[in-house]
Amino acid sequence: PHIIAEPCIGTKDTSCVAVCPVDCIHPTKDEEEFEGAEMLYIDPDTCIDCGLCVDECPVKAIFPEEDLPDEWASFIEKNAEYYQ
Ligand code: SF4
Repeated sequence: PHIIAEPCIGTKDTSCVAVCPVDCIHPTKDEEEFEGAEMLYIDPDTCIDCGLCVDECPVKAIFPEEDLPDEWASFIEKNAEYYQ
C-alpha cells in the first residue's frame, strides 16, 4: 500500500482524500475525529496502489511502501493502526 509519513503531521491538507478512488484515506474533514487527528492515514487493506494521491499532496507526505524513506518506517504501522 501507500503510506502517509511525517510531513502530514500538522498539515492534514486532505487533497489526497478527494482523488482516492477507493476512499481509503481518513479521517476526512467531514468526520468528527478530524480536528483531533494528528494526521491522515491510508487503510493498507483497501489501498489499490494507484498512486494518484502522491502528486496531490502539497508536502510530499505520501510514498509507495517500497519507496518510504527509512527514517519514516514507523509510519507503516502508524497508518495501519488507525484502522484496527
Ligand atoms: Fe488511494 Fe490510490 Fe493513494 Fe492508495 S495509492 S491511498 S488507492 S489514491
